[in-house]
Amino acid sequence: MTDQDCIFCRIARGDLGTEFVHQSDAVVAFDDAAPAAPVHVLVVPRRHLASVADFGAGDSGLLAEIVEVANQVARNRGIDATGYRLLTNHGADAGQTVHHLHFHLLGGAELGPLA
Ligand code: 5GP
Ligand code: ZN
Repeated sequence: MTDQDCIFCRIARGDLGTEFVHQSDAVVAFDDAAPAAPVHVLVVPRRHLASVADFGAGDSGLLAEIVEVANQVARNRGIDATGYRLLTNHGADAGQTVHHLHFHLLGGAELGPLA
């Protein structure tokens, strides 16, 4: 897949006019188009990685920034005290549909068990 074909590369570049809730050199965050909870934000590296399985030894800083951004967005959305879930899907069995790494930040209601 090229960056031209990848929807999250296009969003991260600003091609689609998406409203970011966070943007920095390496990471953007924006509301999920089909929210599964009252707060459902996607935290996405600008660099194209297909999934968490693509993380390498040099990417620990990027992972730390993603978690920091998620925690900051959670505070901004007022769900830090009530709780939230941060997850990422890799591959078919996990139900990954967009093959550009993203972390789901979910909260604002009781989320229930994972499965
Ligand atoms: P996955 O199943 O790959 O972990 O999650 C992909 C997520 O991306 C889904 O929750 C879906 O609603 C969201 N999504 C897919 N396309 C778009 C889009 O164009 N814009 C936004 N904001 N979210 C999208
Ligand atoms: Zn991409």
